[in-house]
Amino acid sequence: MYESINPANGSAIQRFDDDTPFQVNQKLAQAVHAQRDWRQVPVAGRARLLTAVAAQLRKEQRRYAALITLEMGKPIVEAEAEIEKCAWTCDFYAAQAEHYLADETVASTATHSAVVFDPLGLVLAVMPWNYPFWQFIRFAAPALAAGNAAVLKHASNVPQCALALEELFRAAGAPEGLCTTLLVPSYGVQGLIEDARIAAVTLTGSTEVGKLVAAQAGAQMKKQVLELGGSDPFIVLADADIEAAAQTAVHARFGNTGQSCISSKRFIVVDEVADRFVAAFSALASGLKVGDPMERDTQIGPMARASLRATLHSQVERTLEAGATLVLGGRKIDGPGYFYAPTILDHVTDQMAAGTEETFGPLAAVMRVADTEAAIRLANATEFGLGATLWTRDLELAAKLARRIEAGAVFINGQVASDARLPFGGVKQSGYGRELGVYGIREFVNIKTVWTG
Ligand code: NAP
Repeated sequence: MYESINPANGSAIQRFDDDTPFQVNQKLAQAVHAQRDWRQVPVAGRARLLTAVAAQLRKEQRRYAALITLEMGKPIVEAEAEIEKCAWTCDFYAAQAEHYLADETVASTATHSAVVFDPLGLVLAVMPWNYPFWQFIRFAAPALAAGNAAVLKHASNVPQCALALEELFRAAGAPEGLCTTLLVPSYGVQGLIEDARIAAVTLTGSTEVGKLVAAQAGAQMKKQVLELGGSDPFIVLADADIEAAAQTAVHARFGNTGQSCISSKRFIVVDEVADRFVAAFSALASGLKVGDPMERDTQIGPMARASLRATLHSQVERTLEAGATLVLGGRKIDGPGYFYAPTILDHVTDQMAAGTEETFGPLAAVMRVADTEAAIRLANATEFGLGATLWTRDLELAAKLARRIEAGAVFINGQVASDARLPFGGVKQSGYGRELGVYGIREFVNIKTVWTG
């Protein structure tokens, strides 16, 4: 059962029945059919579809953004930005796909030897609710450009977004079945992975679910890309521009109401500047406007589900009990919606909940360290390895330190963000494989050697 619940007031909007096994079978059959034809379409033709998808996204930007806000509570201005980012990424791959997928001639003992990029077939995308359009589009744009078809199993709280994504591709002129939404429960995913028509799987979600899906796909010898959880460090060294760092920290932690895999979560600050940083950070965070996510000036909406808020509050309580100090927030906001006050905890250590667990909501953990070496040690003292931020005026040092940080991306004096031009993904428990850039488009392809004697 898929259910839209408005997290801003807890009211049920609409329920959707799961697809029956018969419907799933029909949809997969149609997807196979669509992909067989689609793989024959030259890349330039596939790129034209992406251009049309971008145009459709922009045409319906307000409607799609409102759906996101309605179902998962993202402030409307951020939801609109999410749709524009999707459109931009479709345009990007429309422009780059031919170049990224061009045959590569390689000198060898052959008369001619080359590498070509063939599609894999149907790729199952198991997606989370936090960026309901973006998470899917960042996979689908390159995957379709490479000649695959996409089968979407979206999170159970964003069914309207899931159906809108299917409609988006249809409206842009995609062949029926090329982009298919299945309304199936999470326990139905294993059966899909075992279905011979599914060639590969991409999952964006928690590490716990990532491990299950990885094992299931591994048992079937099917390619996977896993974009999982994170506990990104935001490192502030003694020579950093503290004002700029604090301003970025507010966006990096509280954007999307803190519900982003690449939100900065652990603010690792050198003692010498820690008081200044905490003062500037909390002054800015205390001014954030919490409220109705449909209002254009709202900066913090509700959390997406009641259970997520309960988990976050438990993490705050356990961290305080373990000896951290409360700087800001630390409480649920009364009312029917799932609102949580922007929260900053100070003196957090790597023995406390907020210093070790992924915190998926508006909670910043400040961790004080003696010096640069201790900062790098603490940054790496996590099971996760998604993104990291480093603040210092010494760019030569920053370049060296970046190589020592165990993460899929290190942003120096800026906020970690995904960008269609650059690869995105994690190491350690944050997953494997890459999305975006040239690396993303080459995940779901058969990198084939063609050798002529
Ligand atoms: P989640 O519970 O792991 O769910 C993600 C998806 O997996 C949903 O479609 C969910 O469906 C499905 N799922 C749940 N249990 C499953 C099972 N046993 N077998 C197969 N599929 C299953 O994650 P979430 O709470 O929606 O999203 C938050 C998590 O995603 C955080 O950990 C966050 O860090 C991570 N994330 C990572 C990235 C990244 O790029 N690395 C980006 C965004 C989010 P149902 O909704 O039906 O349960």
